[in-house]
Amino acid sequence: MSARILDGTAVAALVRTEVADRVDVLAGRGKSVGLATVLVGDDPASRLYVDSKRRAAEEAGIRAFDHSLPAGAALGDVERLIDRLNESGSVDGILVQLPLPPGLDEAVVLGSIDPSKDADGLHPTNLGMLVMDRPGVAPATPTGILTLLDHYGIPTDGAMVVVVGRSLLVGRPLAILLGLKGRDATVALAHSHTPDLAALTRQADILVAAAGRPGLIGAHHVKPGATVVDVGINQAGEGLIGDVDFEAVAEVAGAITPVPGGVGPMTIASLLENTVAAAERRITGRH
Ligand code: NAP
Repeated sequence: MSARILDGTAVAALVRTEVADRVDVLAGRGKSVGLATVLVGDDPASRLYVDSKRRAAEEAGIRAFDHSLPAGAALGDVERLIDRLNESGSVDGILVQLPLPPGLDEAVVLGSIDPSKDADGLHPTNLGMLVMDRPGVAPATPTGILTLLDHYGIPTDGAMVVVVGRSLLVGRPLAILLGLKGRDATVALAHSHTPDLAALTRQADILVAAAGRPGLIGAHHVKPGATVVDVGINQAGEGLIGDVDFEAVAEVAGAITPVPGGVGPMTIASLLENTVAAAERRITGRH
């Protein structure tokens, strides 16, 4: 293997230490920081993600409030819970674990969160601010990816970036962030209708795979020396694998994120950053 490993676990630990320091400062001013997680249904993978987010919050000194609703919960039940969390003085960040069970409209549920408590940065107001390049809550996974690239000194300015996957959660906001002034990447957003994916991805200095398709990206998709960021989390037997054929691509790429231990921990770190930032805004009265 020739590629450098971009170690999300290690970089996330640094971010989480900074978050813990900020939580301590707020505690010194009499303000505790709280994150409420909302899980609808009993999907075991979602339960695992929520538990690891809550654990990470508690390790940083953030109080974690766990709220679970049954899979058959009506939209009104979810909205009533979120209203309560919006009003609660103990809750600074609200995270609704996605995907929601079929029948619940994610856009409506995300839109019912107070944008100032939107820990995942997916409220329409925050996504709108992102498009307008104005201050708002940053989307957690894309921000985590940029923090990781920055940590390893991988420049986006002037880079050709191909993002595979155009979801609201990852691909679309990441493509927008990368194209903003200050980031200055040239971005192509690929999806399931992109013809000849490999011809496009081979042009990338930075290739981000966020499709949820195990093994989608092989060595022939990668320009020698490119940075490859694997967002995918796919269940494979007992373990988790990404969208990138790690062994083969690591022979060609200059740098690569592992799965697990790459983007996943960075997403959680960004979520905690958003939560402590919300608490800081609350205590200073800035919104
Ligand atoms: P999603 O909503 O299912 O979107 C998948 C995207 O990939 C769609 O835009 C789809 O295209 C595209 N796609 C699917 N097959 C493709 C193909 N063969 N070639 C090119 N594009 C293809 O998924 P998501 O929520 O963004 O999640 C993507 C993956 O990232 C999943 O494995 C998820 O578990 C993981 N994830 C990880 C983190 C983390 O923190 N590491 C966070 C969020 C998500 P169309 O739009 O044309 O259908």
